Amino acid sequence: MGSPIRVLVWNECRHEKVHEAVREVYPDGIHAAIAGHLGKQQGMDVRTATLDDPEHGLAEEVLSSTDVLIWWGHMAHNEVSDEVAGRAHTRVLEGMGLIALHSSQDSKILKRVLGTTCCVHWREAGEKERLWNIEPGHPITEGIGDYFELPHVEMYGERFDVPDPDKLIFISWFEGGEVFRSGCVWERGHGRVFYFRPGHETFPIYYDQNVMRVLANATRWAAPRIWKKQESPHVEPIEPLPQR
Ligand code: ZN
Repeated sequence: MGSPIRVLVWNECRHEKVHEAVREVYPDGIHAAIAGHLGKQQGMDVRTATLDDPEHGLAEEVLSSTDVLIWWGHMAHNEVSDEVAGRAHTRVLEGMGLIALHSSQDSKILKRVLGTTCCVHWREAGEKERLWNIEPGHPITEGIGDYFELPHVEMYGERFDVPDPDKLIFISWFEGGEVFRSGCVWERGHGRVFYFRPGHETFPIYYDQNVMRVLANATRWAAPRIWKKQESPHVEPIEPLPQR
């Protein structure tokens, strides 16, 4: 067993401060619910950070000791400084895993990493969602059946403006008729990126067993295999070149 995966669960943590209904579901914040579950997994060393921490809790020394960054944001994406988003982006290119949850499709970090608007259709009606596992052999879906359901969710519908994923892991169907690419993976530089749709601040989705299993699986999958700065060095030839 190698060294533990250093996980940082980042939460905007604004809804929790202003909406009583959100505090009822996540009394200590969404980050605490996610970190509480991941902290019980073997081989994970889990910390949390929030938007209102100095440097949003993402100072250079914090990011440089993070293997997998899990991101939840919704109402304050624009308050994340460009400097911090750029720092996290660089770290992804060097090898850090990034897991963007639910409304984090609109976060600065995911949009920088993917290079598209990541916009979606949406509706908040508390309808049912069925997530189809279309990659049963992928490490992210280990222990997940053919599908699982969430009884009350906010709907996200296509078109989801993202680059074609390297692999599509989940497709969602919603009671209202839409479908959505709910689990997508990409590689950027040396980093692995997973977008996972389930979430929302007023539904207890980060207590759901399947959702949390996927998150734990994805954290293991996204852990770096290599750390390497992205640079363009001048190099000497391996074989001697003929004099010209
Ligand atoms: Zn939502």
